Amino acid sequence: GQCVAVCPVGALTEQDNTWKVVEALANPDKVVVVQTAPAVRVALGEEFGYEPGTLVTGKMVAALRRLGFDYVFDTDFAADLTIMEEGTELLDRIKKFLNGDRDVKLPILTSCCPGWVNFIESQFQDLLDVPSSAKSPQQMFGAIAKSYYAEKLGIPRDKMVVVSIMPCLAKKYEATREEFSVDGNPDVDISISTRELAHLIKRTNIDFNELEDEDFDRPLGESTGAGVIFGTTGGVIEAATRTAYELFTGKQLDKVEFEQLRGLDGVRVATVKMGDIDLNIGIAHGLGNARKLLEEVKAGNPRKLHAIEIMACPGGCIGGGGQPYHHGNLEILKKRAEAIYREDAGKPIRKSHENPAIKELYETYLGHPMSEKAHHLLHTNYTPKDRV
Ligand code: SF4
Repeated sequence: GQCVAVCPVGALTEQDNTWKVVEALANPDKVVVVQTAPAVRVALGEEFGYEPGTLVTGKMVAALRRLGFDYVFDTDFAADLTIMEEGTELLDRIKKFLNGDRDVKLPILTSCCPGWVNFIESQFQDLLDVPSSAKSPQQMFGAIAKSYYAEKLGIPRDKMVVVSIMPCLAKKYEATREEFSVDGNPDVDISISTRELAHLIKRTNIDFNELEDEDFDRPLGESTGAGVIFGTTGGVIEAATRTAYELFTGKQLDKVEFEQLRGLDGVRVATVKMGDIDLNIGIAHGLGNARKLLEEVKAGNPRKLHAIEIMACPGGCIGGGGQPYHHGNLEILKKRAEAIYREDAGKPIRKSHENPAIKELYETYLGHPMSEKAHHLLHTNYTPKDRV
């Protein structure tokens, strides 16, 4: 696959998991739930003749229902949840730092990209306490689906099968990590790529182009614009900034867009004013660029960065190894990124902490961000790995 140059993990050989999906859908004893990553909806259309940058969210949902999934949910919901946990962790570390605690680890690094997590685990083993302990949205979704939602349905967790549609080949490996399972039952059972979903739709003779738009199921399909922008480089940190700003200052943002965090330059550094502190943010996409920022952190963090977002693929997940081939064409990546920002701009709610389904999840189940239960379900830790 084309991901060889950018994904340091199992992406090297592309596994076809679609037969496992078909098998799960055909099993009458299983409740099969699907989640779709934000970058999938801006690229799937290319497999059906649409121009790059065409949003096919509604058709994608309709196609998944035709395929027979019992519930069509959205990884964007879990992206909002990631922001609640990771944003709280960021604020917590900053507040401790401002109070003079020099042991606190800054900058905090985002941890939703398994390609990148694997890279730091194998190549920067002395920095393993720096990434956020928040699980990735794919894994948070699985953990919540098989606890909170399975309990709501009144079924045991092993009756539920969680399938994820990802722009990413490294997500297949992430789903199999031992720490993301309970008594041998994984939080995410099957992860397939955008391309595999397209094949599945074609193989089952669904006329994708003729489908009417449909909407995600609730509650795990409810998401905000902040969850959507996870799909492009700079998006995770912009989403975190929207929430961190409001929680830290107690003020409403007049404008939720942080243009200074956007764009496709390989390494970007920007400062965001948050009340009386200047929040210094670093962004890198592509592992060569990630290495540059990490070397800087190792050398004493001269630019005094507080938070860093790293994505292994060029452009972030929109350029992931499981997406329709873009052959390094920057114009295609730009169009996909524009589509992500269009989807965000069109959402009625654009800040993760205002997602009503997330609020309800905390009120009725988790308590508050970083509570004991949240910690148990939504956080992880990192271990040194042999170089690959
Ligand atoms: Fe996967 Fe996205 Fe990371 Fe690429 S940037 S390895 S698509 S999570």
